[in-house]
Amino acid sequence: MHIRINIKGLVQGIGFRPFIYRLAKQHQQLGWIANTDSGVTIEIEGETKQQQFFIASMKNSPPPYADIYSIAVETLPVANFKTFDFKNSLSSDKKSSYVLPDISTCSKCVQEMFDPGSRFYRYPFTSCCHCGPRFSIMHTQPYDRSNTSLSEFKLCKACENDYKNPDNRRFHAQTLACKKCGPSVSLLNKNGQLLAEHDNAIQQAVQALSAGKILALKGIGGYQLVVDPQNKEAVALLRKRKHRPRKPFALMLPGLKTAHQLCRINSLEQQALTSAASPIVLLQRQPGSKLMQEVAPGQALLGVMLPNSQLHHLILLDFNAPLIVTSGNCQTEPICISEQQSFNKLKEIADLFLTHNREILRPLDDSIVRLIGNKITPIRRARGYVPTAITLKETLPESLAVGGHLKNTVAVSQGNQAILSQHLGDLDSTCSRKQFVATMTDMHQFYQSRPSRIMNDAHPGYASSQYVNDQPLASSPVQHHYAHILSCMAEHGLQPPLLGIAWDGSGLGSNNKELWGGEFLLITDNGFERYAHLRSFPLPGGEAAIKEPRRAALGLLYELFAESLFKDEDSPSLLAFTTQELNILKTVLNKQINTPRTSSAGRLFDVVASLTGICQINSYEGDASMQLESLANSHCSSLIYPYKIQKRSPLIIDWQQTIEAIISDYRLNQLSDVPSKFHNTLADMMLTIAQLANQHNIVISGGCFQNACLVETVLHRMQSAGFKVFQHEKVPPNDGGLALGQLMATKYI
Ligand code: ZN
Ligand code: ZN
Ligand code: FE
Repeated sequence: MHIRINIKGLVQGIGFRPFIYRLAKQHQQLGWIANTDSGVTIEIEGETKQQQFFIASMKNSPPPYADIYSIAVETLPVANFKTFDFKNSLSSDKKSSYVLPDISTCSKCVQEMFDPGSRFYRYPFTSCCHCGPRFSIMHTQPYDRSNTSLSEFKLCKACENDYKNPDNRRFHAQTLACKKCGPSVSLLNKNGQLLAEHDNAIQQAVQALSAGKILALKGIGGYQLVVDPQNKEAVALLRKRKHRPRKPFALMLPGLKTAHQLCRINSLEQQALTSAASPIVLLQRQPGSKLMQEVAPGQALLGVMLPNSQLHHLILLDFNAPLIVTSGNCQTEPICISEQQSFNKLKEIADLFLTHNREILRPLDDSIVRLIGNKITPIRRARGYVPTAITLKETLPESLAVGGHLKNTVAVSQGNQAILSQHLGDLDSTCSRKQFVATMTDMHQFYQSRPSRIMNDAHPGYASSQYVNDQPLASSPVQHHYAHILSCMAEHGLQPPLLGIAWDGSGLGSNNKELWGGEFLLITDNGFERYAHLRSFPLPGGEAAIKEPRRAALGLLYELFAESLFKDEDSPSLLAFTTQELNILKTVLNKQINTPRTSSAGRLFDVVASLTGICQINSYEGDASMQLESLANSHCSSLIYPYKIQKRSPLIIDWQQTIEAIISDYRLNQLSDVPSKFHNTLADMMLTIAQLANQHNIVISGGCFQNACLVETVLHRMQSAGFKVFQHEKVPPNDGGLALGQLMATKYI
């Protein structure tokens, strides 16, 4: 019988075709296979029974990283095939949403690179069907060598033989390269002068790192800044030059053994660490582990990753100790991907540049994940995860979603697939906004998408919302917290009704006046109802106060005690200001100048951190709440603070008694339990509202749910009370996941 099998899914660039070739041989089938825009098409002719075995093995034991979404089989007239062939890609005008992310180096390629007998010995660009860059080097689809930045490197004889041999691991490996024919590295000084090439460049770069120099390194998805974490002066210099006084740095470790020495790692975390995506995993530090405080000051967590490219493997092998590896960018700008960019932007930071001539086509920062409530959760989704599409329960109209303002990502829908862009960072700088526009253009070209509608955040001040104003397409604003909940619902294919808990730093409320952020939304078939929220308080300075917990504290105290708050001269929040500053703030609060009200849970964390003297000024976003979280973990209590529910519509959770009790604990110098009791109280508030709302399904989303202690406390309480809680697993709970929720809102237009 002659059959055609159409497969949709992630099956290109991972050795699927040679796998099929071997299956055909094994089951005595002749015919052909070709890549298509959404997967592969196979035609085989042979015995029917054997064809059934063929299909079964294809389904049951596909190569690693293959992800088959659908298989369609049809019968055709006999064709009398004489061979089994690899046909050229069949392409139509519609592009696939099934594109592979960059895959970290596989163990076989690493082995060869360390084997003096191999022709790939110490060559930093070897890869095979099971590993190597993908999305970062693809100009367009389908994934053929001619469509990648390797197109200019013509295969040498030996590589060509591997490429053509179906029994070789490198059969049709589009990124195949060797010393003779592939890309090469060079070491440059900050003036662009060549210092060394090939293996010499790597060895000299490692020597420079040992001598305390800062190295700009061209990684998979962009430049990284590398420095020796044991060298105090070097780390201090990097912090100074990068204007990053306290924010923790991530480490790249030579291997798992070092990871276990430094951190506590459970099996899920280890899986994430060693996965094909090879992200930075936020791990609990091993108590007493030998590591300089300056790497992650005051943090119980440490961001750790393993080498994810050949070049990283070589450097870590030679250096043989952890290295700080951080994004090669200025502040929150996108990471540099070209030599020119890196010299422009990083010459004030880096001493040396280890670069190469394989072009990076789009910036893909290192991804960050964290174990939250027993689920590996993305915090920053980029290299290794993007552009894996999120399969939806339903088909959406073709749309573009432009995301929020901070931690921006954009998204397009294609049938029942949502494709979320990589993390683009905050849209404060011109550079970031340029990348934001470039990413949308890139996605439209890459997926040939023609959206008929744009979805944006309802906040008119967001750069993403302002961009939409200049577009000819119809646009629809989506309320920030509604988008958060829709995004988590999309991941789990959930339908209304349910209760969404959206807690974050801030987002514009439906009344276009208040900054929401402690929201309980009843999700219905055609929208949402604000069912309950945290009591609001004035925030002097509005969204600018996000950097200063002491301002949030002052606003909240004003809500409770009005002007008499200024009499409490021992309060750490007041002591954090000068008398002059306090006088200005008094006027600001009395006259309500630029003082919107906020119900933000994130700000409530800031208030508690300030009132207890833990943190007055955030040196990076989430600083105060992360400190509270790690203190809560180190001193666990089962107690909760009192609070009240004001029975009106929407319900209001009144934290007045909570705050009064915290102030009293502070005065009595009973500080150690405060963070833990505060977390318990918040979880209890959520449980109380869930019980009143009487919905079985609870969805949690928003930046506050990056706090593992909070999520775990909430899960524990909710689950014991019989609720089913859904949390993020595919996209970040923070604003990096907003675009997905915005796309989902197209259903309700
Ligand atoms: Zn490999
Ligand atoms: Zn070669
Ligand atoms: Fe948010």
